[in-house]
Amino acid sequence: SNGSTPNHVRTNGIAPHHHHPQPIVSLDHGDPTMYEAYWKKAGQRCSVTMSGFQSLSYFGDGKTLCWFMEKKLEDEIRKLHKVTGNAVVDGKHIVVGTGSSQLILAALYALAYTLDISNPVDVVSAAPYYSSYPEMIEFLRTGLFKWSGDARCFDKDVPYIEFVTSPNNPDGSTREAAVMNRGQLGMLVHDLAYYWPQYTAITSAADHDLMLFTASKCTGHAGSRIGWAVVREENVARKMVKFIEMNTIGVSKEAQLRSASVMELISLSCQKRKPCDVESFFDYSQCTLADRWKRLRDVVTKNQLFSLPKFPSHYCNFRREVVQTYPAFAWMKCKEGIDGERLLREHKIGTRSGRRFGWEAEYVRISMLSRDDDFDLFLHRLSTIQPTANGNQ
Ligand code: PMP
Repeated sequence: SNGSTPNHVRTNGIAPHHHHPQPIVSLDHGDPTMYEAYWKKAGQRCSVTMSGFQSLSYFGDGKTLCWFMEKKLEDEIRKLHKVTGNAVVDGKHIVVGTGSSQLILAALYALAYTLDISNPVDVVSAAPYYSSYPEMIEFLRTGLFKWSGDARCFDKDVPYIEFVTSPNNPDGSTREAAVMNRGQLGMLVHDLAYYWPQYTAITSAADHDLMLFTASKCTGHAGSRIGWAVVREENVARKMVKFIEMNTIGVSKEAQLRSASVMELISLSCQKRKPCDVESFFDYSQCTLADRWKRLRDVVTKNQLFSLPKFPSHYCNFRREVVQTYPAFAWMKCKEGIDGERLLREHKIGTRSGRRFGWEAEYVRISMLSRDDDFDLFLHRLSTIQPTANGNQ
């Protein structure tokens, strides 16, 4: 070009692609549009129509402490956990939130509040951690809790809250609490957004004190903004409900009812004798992810610049067979010394840098949940990236 090419396009010893009329393919967010194809096939089966007189009230029609929750949603949440076997829900409280994002803050509020200490409670998670934890916590500047970084480095003898994200965002690993030997001082929030059969083996029914789930990553309906918490202690659940009351006075009834009918169809689709002819939701999504992971691994093996994590196979109680892990994100490492996000952006691929997750710049997180077209374009562009012959280191 006429000298207007930005300098960074020429760096890193990587041959830049000079002619990209197309816009960047954005795989930065974990936007679950991959699931659209399934729901198109399901057609009108879980369409919800509502008349003008329905659901005017602030209150839900349930009888639980989560006073704004619709009974049908609670029923379908409990059923889906039973069908998949991924979590113990009997005897526990369900709290619905506007996405699990709202419940992350509600959980921190509830746990920090019950501690009743004058200093902000330290909140940690093992790196690489979900980038929103520090961002949400620091954004608030509350006196109740503060972000204290990588759980593996935390060694203070004070109460703390640890986020255990399993499977983990960004790297897909299965996790347990990382802070050691803190006895009664630690409180755990298990963020199980990805503990569903399309992503990983369901090895046991999770039975933790406070577990978070979201429709976004389970059914793909991120736009509905429905998440839920499964909570053992009543006083914690009550405080979470109070937080949501102060925040939004509840959660949209339209969204709750639509999510409920989507979950109902998923549960139905999993049953052996089906009254309807829809393909099993988890089979469909696992197959799609398996195919995408295979194609990505093929490209990565060919071009030598990148590497991907490997995952062990486990027996899945839901499928009754050994299954592989197909995370919602690819956590890709570039060759030493290369800024991964920058390199891929030069090739019109939008990713999220490892630095956002408390990690190294060689790493990027790439969403595996985009639409087919975007995923194909991503693979095509990735396959064209070559180390230059005369690359300066
Ligand atoms: N937790 C984790 C680990 C996530 O990856 C996400 C979505 N990226 C969320 C929580 C929040 O999801 P939502 O607010 O859409 O329920």
